[in-house]
Amino acid sequence: MSRAVAQMLAPAQRVLVVSHLLPDGDALGSSLGLRHLLAAQGKQVAVFSAGPIPEEYGFLPGMEMVGDILPPPDEVDLAVVLDCHQPERTGPVSGPYLAKLPRVAVVDHHQGEASMGQAAWVDPGFAATSEMLAEMAWEQGWEMSPEAATCLFVGVQTDTGSFRYSNTTPRCFRVAAGLTEAGARVWDISQEVYATRPKRLRLLGRIMDNLELSQGGRLAMSQITLAELARLNAGPADLEQAVETLRLIPGVEVSAMFRETPNGAIKVSLRSRGKVDVSQIAISLGGGGHKNAAGVTLEGNLAGVRRRIADLLAQRLEEAS
Ligand code: 5GP
Ligand code: MN
Repeated sequence: MSRAVAQMLAPAQRVLVVSHLLPDGDALGSSLGLRHLLAAQGKQVAVFSAGPIPEEYGFLPGMEMVGDILPPPDEVDLAVVLDCHQPERTGPVSGPYLAKLPRVAVVDHHQGEASMGQAAWVDPGFAATSEMLAEMAWEQGWEMSPEAATCLFVGVQTDTGSFRYSNTTPRCFRVAAGLTEAGARVWDISQEVYATRPKRLRLLGRIMDNLELSQGGRLAMSQITLAELARLNAGPADLEQAVETLRLIPGVEVSAMFRETPNGAIKVSLRSRGKVDVSQIAISLGGGGHKNAAGVTLEGNLAGVRRRIADLLAQRLEEAS
């Protein structure tokens, strides 16, 4: 419940805000949005992200305050975990750290039960954590500065794919309207967030070269090796759009993208057009996400993980047809 989280926040003077590894627009937008909302109330707020920070979010007001160093636990009255609800999703160091803190609150919109926190507001009915925080701010009568509005707008904008995905509701538009009224500048923000970067276009070219269509064109899969990423001077943050692009191929119901990680594991990103709930597959393998966008990291090599996921997806596609 939003009220339980607000009640925990009220007396807290020193707040630590934490979001997930490989932060996206909503992780960073909600973290910095909350930072601005709380700082305006005279609170001291530290923002932690295990990173790496994608370059398109460098313009977010307050970005210079995001760090990867955790304060001593006795200097934190309350930690607020955003856009995820499992300690390990926040990173290898912050996970165990959070598990030891006495006061933790969670605000998240991913499927599943929170495995942490004294107050957890987890509602997959929201398109973005930033949307939840905007609603909470207005409910609580908090001041919404242009800086807070800008950060929260980016969260709603990016998690809805610019108001195109099926998670886009009338409320998303109402929240976006309210944030625009509060000072979010849509054109300025969009130029930063959606600036085209040549290395990403080259990466997309490579991924399209690796594309494999199966199940009668309903399953699109592609992959990228560490060596290919290095050759293109690209990182995981540059891949975000690729798996979305695969889903946009006419006839494709599910897309899957496989990437080698520096730890020798395989990161799987899944996207569905709506018939298959890919979060079920991700959750069953230890990952998470939403009905139409989910992910998991698995041990193994590219070919093996790819075969395993392809089998699971083929089965779900069979059931769905
Ligand atoms: P992406 O494919 O962009 O990494 O992730 C898609 C969605 O799945 C996001 O909402 C993300 O939070 C979630 N997700 C991706 N990987 C994992 C994972 O390893 N664990 C969990 N719990 N969620 C994940
Ligand atoms: Mn989100």
